[in-house]
Amino acid sequence: MAGIEGRVRGILEGVPPHVTVVAAAKTRTPDEIRAALGGGIRAVGENYVQETEIAQSALGRRAAEWHLIGALQRNKARDAVRLFDLIQTVDSLRLAEKLDAEGRRIDRVVPILIEVNSGREPQKAGVFPEDVEGFAREIAGLASIEVRGLMTLGPALPEPGALRPFFAETRRRFDALARLGLSNARMTILSMGMSDSYREAIEEGATMVRLGTALFGARREDG
Ligand SMILES: *Cc1c(COP(=O)(O)O)cnc(C)c1O
Repeated sequence: MAGIEGRVRGILEGVPPHVTVVAAAKTRTPDEIRAALGGGIRAVGENYVQETEIAQSALGRRAAEWHLIGALQRNKARDAVRLFDLIQTVDSLRLAEKLDAEGRRIDRVVPILIEVNSGREPQKAGVFPEDVEGFAREIAGLASIEVRGLMTLGPALPEPGALRPFFAETRRRFDALARLGLSNARMTILSMGMSDSYREAIEEGATMVRLGTALFGARREDG
């Protein structure tokens, strides 16, 4: 655990102050997450509702800002609205409508990011870059969600420099959307870059990076 805390401190020192580091915590134990918080992490990214419930019951709902960075099924929307401070993976009208309805039900505005499939990979989640503006207009009437920005993974490429064009395109879509001034949008977050690519992502305009391996070390199932 001391290893995690030290790695976190080292990474946070090297990241500009306007960039938020989200600790991508899938498969990590509450103790590992606690060590990351001890090193200065303020936001934890989770892929699964059940893991989040376990982490929050060990650490406390207020221990961190909790972000959903994994796919969300509509039948888990109610749990997600309760568990997360930001849902980074919204990519369909039906999901947006469901989150809006859940927000309205408990009289809260639900902050979301639109996930962009910047590599235009058919099997991957996310809205294609050329469809981001149309999608944002489509959900602009939903007053109980607030679009805080965009999130992208980009294709899995061995060389992080090869991701730059995908980050740059996502950034252009972000800027265009911010200029539109849609009524339920307050565009401040551009979430892109993971352990291997966060430096390039920051240079291309990321204001948020999602780091797992770089903070916690290799995952057990990764060998
Ligand atoms: C696991 C994960 C990350 C972090 O990946 P690393 O390569 O371990 O940094 C970032 N974003 C999402 C959506 C993830 O699922």
